[in-house]
Amino acid sequence: MDDFQVDVLVVGAGNAAACAALAARETGASVAMLEAAPEAERGGNSTYTAGAMRVVFHGVDDLVQLYDLTEDEKRDVDFGSYTADEYLDDMGRVTNYRCDPELTDILIGRSFETMKWMRSKGVRFQPSYGRQAFKVNGKYKFWGGLAVEAWGGGPGLVDLEHKAAIKAGIPIHYETAAVSLIEEDGVVRGVIARHKGRKIRIGAKAVVLACGGFESNAEMRTRYLGPTWDLAKVRGTRFNTGAGINMALAIGAKPHGNWSGGHAVGWDMNAPEFGDLDVGDNFQKHSYPLGIMVNANGLRFVDEGADFRNYTYAKYGAVILAQPQQFAWQIFDSKVLDKLRDEYRIKRMTKVRADTIEELATKLEGVNQEQFLKTIKEWNAAVMTDVPFNPAVKDGRGTRGLAVPKSNWANTIDQAPFEAYAVTCGLTFTFGGLKITNEGEVENTDGQPIPGLFAAGELVGGLFYHNYPGGTGLVSGAVLGKLAGDGAGKYVAGKN
Ligand SMILES: Cc1cc2nc3c(=O)[nH]c(=O)nc-3n(C[C@H](O)[C@H](O)[C@H](O)COP(=O)(O)OP(=O)(O)OC[C@H]3O[C@@H](n4cnc5c(N)ncnc54)[C@H](O)[C@@H]3O)c2cc1C
Repeated sequence: MDDFQVDVLVVGAGNAAACAALAARETGASVAMLEAAPEAERGGNSTYTAGAMRVVFHGVDDLVQLYDLTEDEKRDVDFGSYTADEYLDDMGRVTNYRCDPELTDILIGRSFETMKWMRSKGVRFQPSYGRQAFKVNGKYKFWGGLAVEAWGGGPGLVDLEHKAAIKAGIPIHYETAAVSLIEEDGVVRGVIARHKGRKIRIGAKAVVLACGGFESNAEMRTRYLGPTWDLAKVRGTRFNTGAGINMALAIGAKPHGNWSGGHAVGWDMNAPEFGDLDVGDNFQKHSYPLGIMVNANGLRFVDEGADFRNYTYAKYGAVILAQPQQFAWQIFDSKVLDKLRDEYRIKRMTKVRADTIEELATKLEGVNQEQFLKTIKEWNAAVMTDVPFNPAVKDGRGTRGLAVPKSNWANTIDQAPFEAYAVTCGLTFTFGGLKITNEGEVENTDGQPIPGLFAAGELVGGLFYHNYPGGTGLVSGAVLGKLAGDGAGKYVAGKN
């Protein structure tokens, strides 16, 4: 590959990058995308997702603008609604009200129109029956504000986005990693990239950084998230090593957001160091609200039913990482086995099954058996069996008198067969990143936009602190990607 010149250069080829590239192209600019990965591993974390997308909708009339529904589905399925106020409440509550108000307004206010725009580009969506709906009295009922997912999950999303890019005349250069920004007189004029061991110079009138956080960089994880984070597994791509953040900081960009925080979940104990596209996100184990979790000491350590899984899963990875030897076992009895999510039915997982609780105790590798049996006995005595169990609402069926309570969905663990699944911490993405303006421009440490530099996706800081409402990563990537692409295109047009 030789040096080349383009109007807008987008660094990355995931969801945020694709949306930025398509939006910039709409303004008439010539656009190219750089992808550090080879084609087979293209699309970053976006490819690894199941495609859940958190968008404002007011019922079926809105949903049919995003996906097709049969008359039976329109009549028989309870999709509910998800208002902007509910979205704002969720973002506020899970981030301890630290989320950047202006960015959050942009995310929420533009979520629906951005997804409609994606559809117009050829991206397809579908209802998320498998993960976000329970059958109650024979009727599907959606819960947790999530009724939309990308058709074909993450791989389907990236495939259709890349097809749209190619159709719009946007080349994607694989195995081409940006390593630094070219800056002249305070203005960004392109990047230096590495392609098959050779440095090349790509000139651009504007650069959009959309190349992910620093989750796949063990050194940065330890430096910013803290001790033991080098031991966490990474759920997605091995290519998000913080390069975009570092190259922007090197020219004076402002760090922003929760640099010591990240999205991390319970993830199969024996999953590989980075994600595996054959398994996708199925190494996650997110039915803990229906059971209990115990650590190596045989003790429970967290309220498994504090809230719907959408609002707890992203912070419980860190809680598991903090346990002795960084693991936990999830325990279920036969009363809830048919309600476990799809990811509990894959082949590659660390699972044991037993006909008695004593036999189960002998199979929980690394766990203090005596204390485990004591924990189960105390647990069974504490469950509020007088309150009805209903997994589709926060049922208030908790525990009485335990040092670590459970608030909802508590069931006794006394009916064979018993199953247990071993999990450790799987890091999804990091929350700290760059500060952007409401036009998607990267700010410098004085709070001024850096001319010619835009950013979108995971490497933008300020949206998520401590926790994250499920399905927001793809939508924030899309909204901020479109924002940055529009901004970059208009900036270039203003220079011509
Ligand atoms: C297993 C898993 C499941 C998930 N499930 C969901 C879900 O269902 N819903 C949801 O909303 N979110 C989900 N997420 C989070 C979501 O994936 C991210 O928030 C979102 O995809 C980030 O998009 P992005 O475009 O910013 O980054 P990415 O999609 O990671 O794209 C970054 C791109 O930059 C490239 N790159 C990196 N460095 C360079 C460089 N130096 N030069 C050139 N290219 C570079 C990468 O190869 C990649 O193409 C999940 C994440 C994982 C890992």
